[in-house]
Amino acid sequence: MEKAEYKEGIAAIGIDLGGTKTEAVLLSPDNTILFRGRKPTLREGGYEAVVLQVAEMVKEASAKLSPNIPYTVGIGIPGSIDSVTGLVRNANSTCLIGHPLQGDLERLLGHPVSVRNDADCFTLAECRAGAGQGFGLVFGVIMGTGCGGGICINGEVREGPHRIAGEWGHYSVDPNGAECYCGNRGCVETLISGSGVEEAFFREFGERLTMDEIVSRARRGEEHSVLAFDRFLDAFGRCLGGLISILDPDAVVLGGGLSNIDELYDAGSERVRRYAFHERITTPILKNALGDSAGVFGAAWIGQR
Ligand SMILES: [Zn+2]
Repeated sequence: MEKAEYKEGIAAIGIDLGGTKTEAVLLSPDNTILFRGRKPTLREGGYEAVVLQVAEMVKEASAKLSPNIPYTVGIGIPGSIDSVTGLVRNANSTCLIGHPLQGDLERLLGHPVSVRNDADCFTLAECRAGAGQGFGLVFGVIMGTGCGGGICINGEVREGPHRIAGEWGHYSVDPNGAECYCGNRGCVETLISGSGVEEAFFREFGERLTMDEIVSRARRGEEHSVLAFDRFLDAFGRCLGGLISILDPDAVVLGGGLSNIDELYDAGSERVRRYAFHERITTPILKNALGDSAGVFGAAWIGQR
C-alpha cells in the first residue's frame, strides 16, 4: 500500500479499546484520516491477548506512515490508571484491572503511549469536533454497559492529581444499592448503566431482559418495564442533577448506547432540572454528534498532549 505523506507535523494514532470492539485511527497533523480499523476485542483471551492485539493495531496504523514521520499514540480504555502504581483500576473490561497497560504497551511498541479513560477521550472529541464545541466547561457522560464521565475545560481535559476527575460512575449514591465491582454499593453505574438496569430488573422481577427490551416494553406500557424505566429516568435526574449542582457546567453531552434513548432529553432532563439546586436550570443536555467515532478520535487527540 502507498505510504501516507504530508508536509510537516506529528501524526496521531488513537485506539479505542472497548469491551466488545477495538478501533484504531491514524490522523495526519491536520486531522485527515489516513487509516481506520476495527476488530472484536479478544476479551476471552484475557489481558495478554488484549494487549498484543492493541499493539498489533498500533503497528498496523503506524505502518501506513513513512518511517521518518513522527507520531503519537493514545489509548482510551473503559477504566482509569492509578496515579501512584500505574496499574489499571475500575475497568469494566475487568481483565485489564491490576495490569500495567501503559508500560506493557510501551515495551511492546518501543514507543511512548498515553492511556486515558474512554469518557475523557469521548468528552475531548465532542468538545473539539462535536456537540460540545463552543462551550467552556463540558461534562461528558458515557452511558452504555458501564457509566463514566469526563470534564473538559476550554478544550482541555481535566485529569486531577489522582487522575479521577469526572469519575462519576463510581460515585456511591445508595448505601443499600447493588454491589459494584469497584467495591462500593449503589454506584451511579449500578443505577443508570445498561447492565445496572438489567441486573436490577432481574433482581426485582426474576426476568432477564436487555436494556433495549426494557425500554421498548416500557413504551408499550408493560407494567414492570414502566416501573424500571421510570426509576432509571429518576436516577438519571438525581445523579446528573447533583453533578450539575456541583460543577455547573456550560453543557452536558451524552454518549454511549443509552444516549440514543430519546426520553433522556425530555422526561429525563425534566428530572435533572427537578433535582438540581436551582429553580431554572438551563444547562443544555445534548446528544453526542460524533456517535461511535468520538472515542477513537479523542484517544488520538489525548495522545498529542
Ligand atoms: Zn462502583
